[in-house]
Amino acid sequence: MSRAAGGTEADPEIVLRLEGVRKAFGPVTVLDGIDLDVARDEVVALIGASGSGKSTLLRTVNLLEPIDDGRIVLGGDDISDPRVKVDAVRARIGVVFQHFNLFPHLTVLDNVSLASRHVLRRPKAEANARARELLERVGLGDKADAYPDRLSGGQQQRVAIARALAPRPAVLLLDEITSALDPELVGEVLDLVRTLKEVGTTILMATHEMAFARDVADRVVFLDSGRIAEQGPPEQLFTAPRTDRAREFLTRFT
Ligand code: ADP
Ligand code: MG
Repeated sequence: MSRAAGGTEADPEIVLRLEGVRKAFGPVTVLDGIDLDVARDEVVALIGASGSGKSTLLRTVNLLEPIDDGRIVLGGDDISDPRVKVDAVRARIGVVFQHFNLFPHLTVLDNVSLASRHVLRRPKAEANARARELLERVGLGDKADAYPDRLSGGQQQRVAIARALAPRPAVLLLDEITSALDPELVGEVLDLVRTLKEVGTTILMATHEMAFARDVADRVVFLDSGRIAEQGPPEQLFTAPRTDRAREFLTRFT
């Protein structure tokens, strides 16, 4: 099987696969045997109570947390192998976190082109052209020369999404990207994620926006104490949860 196809050895349509992933912090098991596939162009929403392991799961995929057991396979490559080149793996994974982490001393354009230039070593003109194209796509073409502090929180998150997409990642990880925003700014960021889905972007996102998950996700995964307690299409999971744990959670959060 060609690795260039971007899938796993078993199924080229699977972009990301977690197999029996375990992670403990000291005595506390936070991910307790996670098996999860994300297919090409699929949008998967991770939901679950605070502390259920959503962020830790995303951080293990981006190699911010080493795992204790299991495997993480990206495009056919075992990225949980300790010998992998971390920067090269991260260039294949776009990440946006809850808190804006744009570089305040760089313009919006430089924030977006940075990884292309320094990690992928693309020429400056090419990296900047790609960054301008992405800024247009997120509706911020006119902000290229601004510094992040002149942008609203919603605009900053849209820049962060453009930056994450710049290296053409195989998968985009989004961790509660609207939870630090004022309510009136949430919509523009969620609309952008919806647009990304329409153009075919593979997304794994933790969210507490249940209406959004229901609307945009192809599949919803409910995490409970570091385990996948239940998963399915949003219509099924939100209207007819099969487990008591999911039912209790949804009663509290919807
Ligand atoms: P969620 O994103 O679903 O709220 P997290 O993945 O952030 O959950 O946290 C899951 C559990 O792991 C929590 O009990 C949290 O306190 C714990 N945890 C997360 N990161 C660390 C860390 N670096 N050290 C110790 N415990 C951690
Ligand atoms: Mg979290």
